[in-house]
Amino acid sequence: MLKLKSSREIEAMRNAGLVVWEAHQIAKRLVRPGTTTGEIDQAVEDFFHEKNVVPLFKGVPGPVPFPAVCCISVNDEVVHGIPGSRKLQEGDVISIDTGCRLKGWCGDCAYTHAVGQVTDDVQKLLDCTSGVLELAIKLMGSRNRWGDVASEMATFVRDYGFSVVENFVGHGIGKNMHEDPQVPNFCSPSFRRKHDFELEPGLVIAVEPMVNMGTKKVRVLPDFWTQSTNDGKYSAHFEHTIAITDGGPLVLTAAPQSDEEKEMTGVVTTTEGS
Ligand code: MG
Repeated sequence: MLKLKSSREIEAMRNAGLVVWEAHQIAKRLVRPGTTTGEIDQAVEDFFHEKNVVPLFKGVPGPVPFPAVCCISVNDEVVHGIPGSRKLQEGDVISIDTGCRLKGWCGDCAYTHAVGQVTDDVQKLLDCTSGVLELAIKLMGSRNRWGDVASEMATFVRDYGFSVVENFVGHGIGKNMHEDPQVPNFCSPSFRRKHDFELEPGLVIAVEPMVNMGTKKVRVLPDFWTQSTNDGKYSAHFEHTIAITDGGPLVLTAAPQSDEEKEMTGVVTTTEGS
């Protein structure tokens, strides 16, 4: 059952989204050759603890419960990578996905960063994946059904010569991280027939395109969690939690916009006096 949110509830979700945004700023500052993925995860865990919010990923059930507050996936790892002792190297790409619950409401967001200098092809992969998320946000303001957005996303990625991962999709989000509906980044005839949904005010979804340089096929590693590309080529992943409001799509995990939001996130607003 698809649960629409009131404007009050969307406001509460924005507050959770701001904490997730801030966590990503902390993580991003640590992305450089020599940092371990475990150090980045620890910094985010410390920040969530300090903010008194509940990490969403730690303890997610599986063959083994997910052990960290971030999914960190490097290079050919697509999603659900487990942070640990792996040291980042120049030319890597690192996808950091994290979320938290604040006062009962969830936010979920992912970015992929280049570590130092990457090749032109890899930069193109990052541009394509962040670009297709931007496209989706824009189209959510003008299309009536998700299937229309999703099919344009797939075309956008195909035009780059890359492939959309189909094994994993975005999701509704609210009091729980994963709610209905499922939000694919491609549109199949059966999705249109059976699972498509209307883009109406009150809908809140996490849109999270995963794009592979080569094959769309993925495989799970022996750690039970990490999903890797079948051909070993690089993959990227970007995600935002997005609400449809009467005024259009609102990115709940975006950077602070108003002075009030800047104050909440500790982004200092000073009048330049010099
Ligand atoms: Mg998600």
